[in-house]
Amino acid sequence: MANFNQESVLNVHHWTDNLFSFTTTRDPSFRFRNGEFVMIGLETGDRPLMRAYSVASANYEPNLEFFSIKVPDGPLTSRLQHLKEGDQIIVGRKSTGTLVIDNLTNGRNLYLIGTGTGLAPFLSVIKDPATYGRFEKIVLLHGCRRVVELAYGEMITEKLPQDELIGELIREQLIYYPTVTRDPFRNRGRITSLITSGKLFSDISLPNLDAAKDRVMICGSPALLADTKSILIEKGFEEGNHGQAADFVVEKAFAER
Ligand SMILES: Cc1cc2nc3c(=O)[nH]c(=O)nc-3n(C[C@H](O)[C@H](O)[C@H](O)COP(=O)(O)OP(=O)(O)OC[C@H]3O[C@@H](n4cnc5c(N)ncnc54)[C@H](O)[C@@H]3O)c2cc1C
Repeated sequence: MANFNQESVLNVHHWTDNLFSFTTTRDPSFRFRNGEFVMIGLETGDRPLMRAYSVASANYEPNLEFFSIKVPDGPLTSRLQHLKEGDQIIVGRKSTGTLVIDNLTNGRNLYLIGTGTGLAPFLSVIKDPATYGRFEKIVLLHGCRRVVELAYGEMITEKLPQDELIGELIREQLIYYPTVTRDPFRNRGRITSLITSGKLFSDISLPNLDAAKDRVMICGSPALLADTKSILIEKGFEEGNHGQAADFVVEKAFAER
């Protein structure tokens, strides 16, 4: 067990039949960079059942937060979705991941592109004051099928702008752009289509993506990553990773099995 901390569940919120969030206690020794993921799971007899999860809380917050899918027959989430206050989960002691601002070179505007639970790492990145020090505007794009799946929308538009630490930065620099593909909504369509058609940029009144000035982080399905990467590479963007900061970074929101 030396590689894991035991944490207690503090709160569980179900957004839909397929999505939920929960907060846990945080071992004071657990350190992470905003945007990183960690292995979390449950003890199930002989060995723990662990999966990668982005940390949705910021690294200065006292508790940990996770935003989760419920896969009906998924080994972990078929159990995890029944978590309730006071239950124990295990959290790896080491975090990692490419979606950290240190992996990007300096730029003008930062685009955070997340679909589904791929929003999670960006919830941490948008709460980091350093993000606003590095970039002028932070554009948070969240793509889902249905309006009810646009989790955290109210937190981003109502609560964060009033936050004592980062409220002013959020009000002046964050642009939140949720979009859905299957319901009527003010923003509709796939993120990739909104980028290639230019509609995104006219909606948010910013210039089209420019490799010399803009920086991008992407977290979503393997298909979203592939499609967005090819759009960026065509525009001259270069991919960064640990030790090699560049114009954009990507992380899978989940692995296909
Ligand atoms: C770097 C990384 C970070 C991740 N962060 C998160 C996170 O913050 N929140 C989260 O819910 N999951 C996250 N995942 C996915 C997570 O690790 C598990 O796959 C998920 O919890 C389901 O576990 P499971 O054992 O129930 O099913 P699994 O056997 O792990 O998955 C079964 C199938 O369900 C689908 N699936 C799994 N996860 C998702 C998802 N998030 N969205 C849509 N379809 C999915 C895939 O098709 C997968 O093949 C992340 C994965 C990676 C690689």
